[in-house]
Amino acid sequence: MPQVDPEKQREFAVEIVRRLRARGFEALWAGGCVRDRLLGITPKDYDVASTARPEQIREIFGILRTVPVGAAFGVITVIGTRTAGHIEVATFREDKSYSDGRHPDSVEFSSPEADARRRDFTINGVFYDPLDDRVIDFVGGQEDLACRVVRAIGDPRARFAEDKLRLLRAVRFAATLRFALDPDTRRAIREMAGEVTLVSAERIAAEMRLMLVHETRANSVKLLRDVGLLAAVLPELFAGQATALPSVSAEPDRVRWALTLEVLDRLDTPTFPLALAALLHAFVSAAVAYEICRRWKLSNRESQRTAWLLEHQSALLDARQMPWSKLQKLLIAEGSDELLRLHEAVAKATNTPTAHVEHCRALLTMPREQLDPPPLVTGNDLIAHGVRRGKLYPKLLGAVRDAQLDKQVASKAEALALVDRLRASGDDPDQTSGD
Ligand code: ATP
Ligand code: MG
Repeated sequence: MPQVDPEKQREFAVEIVRRLRARGFEALWAGGCVRDRLLGITPKDYDVASTARPEQIREIFGILRTVPVGAAFGVITVIGTRTAGHIEVATFREDKSYSDGRHPDSVEFSSPEADARRRDFTINGVFYDPLDDRVIDFVGGQEDLACRVVRAIGDPRARFAEDKLRLLRAVRFAATLRFALDPDTRRAIREMAGEVTLVSAERIAAEMRLMLVHETRANSVKLLRDVGLLAAVLPELFAGQATALPSVSAEPDRVRWALTLEVLDRLDTPTFPLALAALLHAFVSAAVAYEICRRWKLSNRESQRTAWLLEHQSALLDARQMPWSKLQKLLIAEGSDELLRLHEAVAKATNTPTAHVEHCRALLTMPREQLDPPPLVTGNDLIAHGVRRGKLYPKLLGAVRDAQLDKQVASKAEALALVDRLRASGDDPDQTSGD
């Protein structure tokens, strides 16, 4: 919903409360939007909690304007205009026993107070009445917002035992809001960190994504490490199997962590693959990074990009000395901007010059037909030239392409002459493929 206008969204969230009240139901803003509002941050979405039941919510806003996203939990999405976006309206509820450590076994519609108490952290448990401009706080959330503390509602151990995702959420809220973790909540996280793997890999990855793309990513990583959650979700970082950069992997752990946090801090609005590559770069090989991405069920595209960035993390260091045919392939690659940003962050983090990055950026301003000119010779040209298709065909084409980029051949005739020389010197697929 990129066209959503925050002001229209807010008006829509007020309107929803007004209409529910007009029908005799209690309705309040709940969760993150209340927290953000009290912190002076523009909420990115609004949640409304109400005494209305799912079928009543649908009846009031219309079957066609509502989607029963989580009707079993009493959650209905109400669809607004394009600029107002969607708002989730939920029935006040409490969650009944959590036997799997991930999901409640059942939910029961309930009072606003019980609904506040089933929420994860006090700062997320405050309600707001936008019609009377009134805060309704059963859990001491306002005080914790004022002293900037993330505190579990009730007994932290019991709350984390119910739903282990909360372990990661606690760190995410503390790091991204730059809040402290309440000491008892923090102790519980430390004790229970190992249990986070009960949560599905996708949900772990989703939390990691939110933390790593946020500007506070270094805070998150440091806190995750300090409370033991990083070792639970990324044991590879602690396995002492560094294979990435010989120069870096020889460094003691302390140095590699300091470098990693610095690099993370230097990234400016990174993609998830770039931030993840920065987190992994001093500890694991590209192959291990790829396995991590697969475990987290990232898309092929993101998995490949992360591994590619790790594989080429130092490739541009000697950009100024490199043959153009080699550098060009990195610069025209889809991930080149991220690769340059990784190099830049590493250079800044280590207080080393960024001339290699600037050199590449200057080259990238070349017009496309100069940066990546059409090939002088194609497969069809080779066929027409009488070269029989064979296993080494791509090798011949590659050699001719490199010669073209390095300005050793400048025309199709020169390129085909090079093909002839390569064939004569034994690089001919017909001679070497054995058929
Ligand atoms: P964000 O800004 O990340 O969206 P949020 O607080 O809105 O933060 P959501 O995941 O959108 O977080 O959830 C909305 C609200 O639902 C939370 O504020 C919290 O009250 C409650 N909640 C969400 N996840 C949990 C959970 N795992 N356990 C308990 N309560 C939760
Ligand atoms: Mg939210």
